[in-house]
Amino acid sequence: MYREIEDGILSNFGSVNSLPQKLASLIKQQKTVWELLDKNDDALSDVKIKEFIFDDIKINLQFNPHRIISTSAKVDKKTIENRKCFLCKENIPAEQSAVKFNDEFAFLCNPFPIINNHFTIPHVDHIPQQIANYFESFLDIVFSLKDNFTILYNGPKCGASAPDHLHFQCVKSDVLPIESEMELLLSKYSKNYLNEAEIKSYFVSDPLRNFIFIQSDNKTKIIEEFERVYKSLQKVFENNEEPLLNVLSFYRNDCWNVIVYPRAKHRPDYYFLEGDDQILISPASIDLCGVLVCPRENDFNRVTSKQIQTIFREVSCRTDNLSVLLNTV
Ligand SMILES: [Zn+2]
Repeated sequence: MYREIEDGILSNFGSVNSLPQKLASLIKQQKTVWELLDKNDDALSDVKIKEFIFDDIKINLQFNPHRIISTSAKVDKKTIENRKCFLCKENIPAEQSAVKFNDEFAFLCNPFPIINNHFTIPHVDHIPQQIANYFESFLDIVFSLKDNFTILYNGPKCGASAPDHLHFQCVKSDVLPIESEMELLLSKYSKNYLNEAEIKSYFVSDPLRNFIFIQSDNKTKIIEEFERVYKSLQKVFENNEEPLLNVLSFYRNDCWNVIVYPRAKHRPDYYFLEGDDQILISPASIDLCGVLVCPRENDFNRVTSKQIQTIFREVSCRTDNLSVLLNTV
């Protein structure tokens, strides 16, 4: 297990009666002992943001130079094998303490936050990033955090900077624009393809993205539908590995809300261009939900609304591929 922080220490920084309270206290405690986190967390208050509107969708472009490591991370097999895993308990910084979730997961403060209160939730063991066997744990974490935090998963080829070590992330609820836009997106851009008393599932195709939205108060039903989507994607892409995807979930009004973003590719073509043509943007779950990270100031100043739309469309799974998926219901 990671270095677990005692409630006695945490209680000096706030209440410790619930998991969300413990996490709020953990951030405060970690900021007092960990200079890097303190500096990067404070820097978020004057981070530059540009707002882009695509009909009903808000994208906050964020200039965040600290994210250069993550945005440009090499995640090929060789690079990963030759580096020390930064999520393994024996390699984490001396200052980093954890709040345990169960015997398998722990919450750690992310020292390179995109949003204040940004946590990484690694598995205690060094096992590959793959959600299939841990989707129930993912939903259990969502349930424990209720409407305080939103949980995210980046597939090993879709933005996870540690594709060899299973981990989720969480950020404060209602910070990601998509959460407040969801109702409108469902009314304007969705097709309801599963409508039972205990579960509803939609295919959403908005001006930027194509995704699946599942809503239910029944954990078993959500798991069944997620597995069906997962297997259908494997079939569509004729690949038995994990389909390219990002997942997000938040808990509201006694229901789990799950967004599954099937992806066409990891990085857009702009990422691989050279010189002035290159735009270093590599979308993962937080970006797809409306906080688009841009680690270079030059890109931040010049990227256009049209280019952002191209980037989103290019990394999103094509509509025809998803229609095939829906026909397999
Ligand atoms: Zn590891």
